[in-house]
Amino acid sequence: MSKDRDFEGVVCPHCQSDNNEVLSLFGGSSSEVLFKCSDCDTCFNWLKWRGALPTSALDYAKENSDAQGPTS
Ligand SMILES: [Zn+2]
Repeated sequence: MSKDRDFEGVVCPHCQSDNNEVLSLFGGSSSEVLFKCSDCDTCFNWLKWRGALPTSALDYAKENSDAQGPTS
């Protein structure tokens, strides 16, 4: 998998895996990147400028996972 160096160290908030793929460079806002964990299939937002996850992102990921699941 090729991954942008800027995203090194991004880990899944649910299972702490670093095996993630970028779904969208602009998730909830222009400063967020939407990731999907390849291990637990959970989507989560990552803030480019902080490398930290706000509580709202965790809630979003949870809702997104419950409502949709993998679409492919
Ligand atoms: Zn995960």
